[in-house]
Amino acid sequence: MTGSDGRSTGAPAAYCPSCGHLEYPSDGGGGVCDRCDSDELVWIDTEGTVYTCTVVHVGTPGVPTPYALGYVDFEPGARAFGRLAVADAEIGRCVVPVFKPEGLFFERPRKDGDA
Ligand SMILES: [Zn+2]
Repeated sequence: MTGSDGRSTGAPAAYCPSCGHLEYPSDGGGGVCDRCDSDELVWIDTEGTVYTCTVVHVGTPGVPTPYALGYVDFEPGARAFGRLAVADAEIGRCVVPVFKPEGLFFERPRKDGDA
């Protein structure tokens, strides 16, 4: 969800349309991109659509397999890379970004009232 002032009320990630940098977790940095100093950061906390994905069966030590990786498109024009549940590894699926210590994950959106 996005607050009336446009700030994220959920996932603290920001995307920079100028250089394509995806920043998370992001404190907003005053709305300035860490990489190119653009001041047009866009908050990403909405539903996105799986653009492409793959299921990984041979992992690195310590990482349970199978797992899925994918690119997810967000409005307005941000594309983020992260982990997916294998069951969600489907092009066109609607997902939301979830930020964990291990990195960026995409999960199915919760229904209103779940939280
Ligand atoms: Zn930038």
